Amino acid sequence: MLAGSSQLLHRRPDTIRGMAAPAHILVVEDEPRLGELLRLYLQRDGLRVTLVGDGPSAIEAVRRAPVDLVVLDLMLPGLDGEAVLAAIREQSDIPVLIASAKRSDAERIAGLRMGADDYLAKPFNPHELTARVAAILRRTGPRDTTVDMLSLDGGRLVLDPQSRRYTLASPKPGGAPTRGSLTPGEAALLAALARRPGSVLGREHLLEVVTRRPYEVYDRVVDVHVANLRRKLGDDPSRPWLIETIPQAGYRLVASRDRP
Ligand code: CA
Repeated sequence: MLAGSSQLLHRRPDTIRGMAAPAHILVVEDEPRLGELLRLYLQRDGLRVTLVGDGPSAIEAVRRAPVDLVVLDLMLPGLDGEAVLAAIREQSDIPVLIASAKRSDAERIAGLRMGADDYLAKPFNPHELTARVAAILRRTGPRDTTVDMLSLDGGRLVLDPQSRRYTLASPKPGGAPTRGSLTPGEAALLAALARRPGSVLGREHLLEVVTRRPYEVYDRVVDVHVANLRRKLGDDPSRPWLIETIPQAGYRLVASRDRP
């Protein structure tokens, strides 16, 4: 699914910290006044902003130029935000922050399941949005290139923490491995579990790992990321090889960690 998308997977070597060119944010918002307000706030943080007002323009903008993060409204004319997110995810793993008036738990979970990195319900304070954008960019910015590959269970799963691309060995002897890519949140969660194999990590701790925010009422985001990891990496929660659910407590890595 993600093969052959190297151009879209290209990540600019810059960050919000302003080392080089500013990060490029695509804002997809059909309410002109809100769109302009978001542009203003993000630009004030030193970010470069492209603003579009409908779904097809959003997909076109992602194809046309490297984008570091997408702020995505869901209720859009023409093509709704869910369809835009699906189209982006077919080609790219760029971070997506949904900013939508859809605010029920079910709607938030649906958005995260589709691969959004974060979800902000409208109405929101623009400062909250810029803080979350900064948190995602910090997480997805340039990493130390000396970081070792994460290898689990004797090479069954190998993850490059920088590109977040993984190779999963086939369960059948001689079968072809599965390759894919994790979202920033999924990769951060797995890396946190892998730092302490066998230890139970609580949802609150993992939530902070994933969102970089110490306080968050909405903690289902961790469960959804774990569910996405299990689906991608062939982990059956009833007989896990990778992540075990500890009721009332959190999660723990059951796979062994290979020494680099
Ligand atoms: Ca809208």
